[in-house]
Amino acid sequence: MKTCPRCGLSGGSEMFYKDRGNVDTYCKQCRKNLAKEWRAKNPGRCRELRSAWREKNPGREAQGQRDRDRRDYWSDPDAYRKRASEYISSLTQEQRAKRNARRRAEYAQTPKVKARLSVLSAIRLGALVRPSQCSKCGGRGKRIEAHHEDYGKPLNVVWLCSVCHGETRRRPLPNIEVVL
Ligand SMILES: [Zn+2]
Ligand SMILES: [Zn+2]
Repeated sequence: MKTCPRCGLSGGSEMFYKDRGNVDTYCKQCRKNLAKEWRAKNPGRCRELRSAWREKNPGREAQGQRDRDRRDYWSDPDAYRKRASEYISSLTQEQRAKRNARRRAEYAQTPKVKARLSVLSAIRLGALVRPSQCSKCGGRGKRIEAHHEDYGKPLNVVWLCSVCHGETRRRPLPNIEVVL
């Protein structure tokens, strides 16, 4: 048991963040609130840090947005589809075209697309060979695709037929902690 000096709440280790084994002084909720207050007080610095991060992590923002969208979708698919179609129909033709172009450009920067391009060029160079059999169901004669467990290791692929690959993709993402 540990008590947060800011809000006075006590709790176990799940209530606190850990950094290299060191337990944080303030509880998670207070950390989030402190970060929020800091962002509100330092909008300029906040923008700078954000754009520096964006530059160092191309595509990560778009990826994060996609992951959030996917989580939202799976938490209530019907509500998500309804919200999305309402939003899209509220846009003008021009806004819609702009949005599509921006999303396409962002998507091209995501680790996912980059990993896919790395696989294609490795195949062209002969460093990777696309097998004729799915490594999961053993199926032959179907299109075999490269599945990534980790886009950070673009040449670490699991070869799956399109059916098995689809199953990995349609699985909802695990829930993450929601920052309030
Ligand atoms: Zn606290
Ligand atoms: Zn398969």
